[in-house]
Amino acid sequence: PVLTKQSVVKLMGEVRASIEPQALANNITLEYKGADILPECMFDKQQLKQVLINLCQNAIEAMTDGGILTLSFGSHCNDAFIEIKDTGRGIPCGSLNKLGVPFFTTKEHGTGLGLNICYAIISAHNGKIEVDSKEGQGSSFRVYLPVSA
Ligand code: ADP
Ligand code: MG
Repeated sequence: PVLTKQSVVKLMGEVRASIEPQALANNITLEYKGADILPECMFDKQQLKQVLINLCQNAIEAMTDGGILTLSFGSHCNDAFIEIKDTGRGIPCGSLNKLGVPFFTTKEHGTGLGLNICYAIISAHNGKIEVDSKEGQGSSFRVYLPVSA
């Protein structure tokens, strides 16, 4: 990645705009809650956008009967965080440690590469991704990025 000082607020506005039509088409309500002001972070905008859209796509694919997709962001200590939360099918405990393993997919036409690429990109940003999920209730993927000095 080519890291430059960027606004998370602006990035999230763009992610929202590009995911909104797909959410609406799938009977999914898009909720958006972010801090108005956030310290800037060092990131590759195109790559980080790809990660977030990927996470949103997984979230939408997990909500086959509609639901709520919540995009939120803020900062905590020296990290900015972005959370993609869904009310979809959730991830069974036994699969949680397989997320990001190349070719792990539970979808008929899945590649199982999306999360692997997401993890690689975030790790190249010195960040991390935390997953929280309850089967039958939903999942959240939280991306942490260090705030630039
Ligand atoms: P793919 O989407 O091609 O299956 P990914 O690497 O993006 O590959 O995801 C791997 C697997 O992780 C998915 O097949 C699915 O089982 C699980 N998964 C990822 N995100 C979610 C989510 N938001 N809700 C439920 N399961 C998920
Ligand atoms: Mg995927």
